[in-house]
This record gives sequence, C-alpha cells and structure tokens, in this order.
Amino acid sequence: MDCTKCDREAVLHAAYSGAHLCEHHLRASVEKRVRRRIREDGLIGDDATPQNPETWLLGLSGGKDSVVLGSILADTFAEDPRIELVALTIHEGIKGYRDESLDAASAFADEQEISHEVVTYADEFDLEMDRVVEKDPENMAACAYCGVFRRELLAEYAEAYGADKLLTGHNLDDEAQTAMMNFLEGDVAQMAKHFDASLGPFPERSESTEFVPRAKPLRDVPEKEVALYAHLADLPVHMAECPHSSEAYRGEIQQLLFDLEERHPGTRHSIMAGYEEFAKLAAEAYRGDGPDLGECERCGGTTTREICRTCQLTEAVHAA
Ligand SMILES: [Zn+2]
Ligand SMILES: [Zn+2]
Repeated sequence: MDCTKCDREAVLHAAYSGAHLCEHHLRASVEKRVRRRIREDGLIGDDATPQNPETWLLGLSGGKDSVVLGSILADTFAEDPRIELVALTIHEGIKGYRDESLDAASAFADEQEISHEVVTYADEFDLEMDRVVEKDPENMAACAYCGVFRRELLAEYAEAYGADKLLTGHNLDDEAQTAMMNFLEGDVAQMAKHFDASLGPFPERSESTEFVPRAKPLRDVPEKEVALYAHLADLPVHMAECPHSSEAYRGEIQQLLFDLEERHPGTRHSIMAGYEEFAKLAAEAYRGDGPDLGECERCGGTTTREICRTCQLTEAVHAA
C-alpha cells in the first residue's frame, strides 16, 4: 500500500484517520502533533525570551515515550533559545530493568547534549522497589508505591531546578486508560485533579496551583506510533516492561480499549476529547473547594494530611 501523501510504501495504517503513512510522513505527522499540542496548550510562556528562557524538566525513563518526546523537543527547540531542556531519570531500584533503561537515557541525553541528572530511591528514600515489592506493607500494586515516590521526586527536582514546566511522555493510550479508569471508578474529584495537574491551558493552571505545572505533549500520539517512531528514528530506547508492573485493572482497561479501537477506530481520541472537556468543567466546579493544604510533620512537604503519603509509605516499608 502506498503512502496517502506520496508514492513511497506505507509503514502504518492509522485506521482512526484513514491515512496510510510512509516512514517520512509518519515521522513528520508525529512531530506535527507534538508541536501542535505545545502550541494549543500554550506551553511556551509569554514571558519566555532568549535572555530569560523557560526551563522544562523532562522525566526521562529511557523508555520509548520519554525518549521520543525528548528527541522531538530537542529538535524543535534547537534553534529556539526561549526554552532550555533538562532531563531527570529516576532509578527505582529494580535490578536489571532500570539499569538498562538508564543506559538508554544517558546515551540519549549525551547524544542530544541535554543536561541530565539521575536520582535514586535508595539515596532519596533509603529503599528500593525490589524490596518494597517483597515487603508490600500496604498490600497494593507495585505501581501504586512507585507512582507516589516518582511523583514526589519529579516535583521536588522540578522545584530545585527552578523549572517552569515538568514534562512527561504519556501517550494517547496511557491517557485514554487513565480517563476510562477515572470514569469507571466514578471519581469526578480525581478528574478535576487530573485536569489541574496536567491538561488544559497553562496560564489558568499556574494561577490555580502552587506546584510546577505538568505537561504531556505526546498525549495525542498512540503508543504504537511512538514505538514505530523510536524504531524509524533509530533512537536509543529500552523496550522491556517493568518486571513489577501488574496493575491488573489497568490491564483490563487496556484490553477493552484495544478491542473497541479495533471495531470503532477513533475511540481513544473521542474518549480524550470528552474527558478533557468534562475534566475542565469539573476542575472549575471544584476549584477552591479542595481540602486545605498544610505541611507534612516529617518532611515539611505540601500535603492535605498530617503526614504526607510519601513519608507514610517510606515509613511503612522501613517498619515492615
Ligand atoms: Zn509519504
Ligand atoms: Zn512528608
């Protein structure tokens, strides 16, 4: 089958748009969607100038999503001194797995000449995910612990770098799964939080929160296209799945969306269009209505509890 836009051979059929794309036009299309998302989200602050650039901190795992996003950002801003890109890799203490993806992350950052820092759960929390999984004091999925620790470190380092934005490589499939999970759990407050934390236009958001705003400029691109892009651009990525990843519910949702998309192409896009609209309304309705923020008794971090979730979990692991 030929490419819809030229007479080269197609490497992808995007059923949701009807397009057949060759290597060249697939890459161009992915890049275009990321740049459009940056523009439509108003990601580049009005105050950013070459003399006073914004700092964007990229969470760089070494997996395909963050490497593809980093590569497109580096290309996009190579000639645009309004944005300075820095990368942070978090080593959770997962033997084998994270060591390999850390190599990919370092190779990528070197290649792109992006300033790159590595932080470990061992240094920061005196624990490793391999041990957390073994002890499991709260009887939760590994990802639930890991997510709390990772969010904490990303936020902490974004603050320490004086970053204006915190960017992560979530793709369309990740975001559609999260949206569906929030819908099916009936958790409207969570949707409002999701919107405030990482969707919608930025000026509004930074006024409504004291945290460094988060952005997901890859969220219009399906996972399969991200993987194909990484392969075609010959990027250094680590493809293995985390050995502890066993979020059973997310797995079910993933399968459900996969089946729906097969039979009704465009489902993920329409879920996200509706979800973002709805989450925005929810965020407006809930704004100022949340529990009061205070300081954690242990670490002084911002929390709605007496002891923040991170301190609570690290203490539980150390006590187990
Ligand atoms: Zn083409
Ligand atoms: Zn704390």
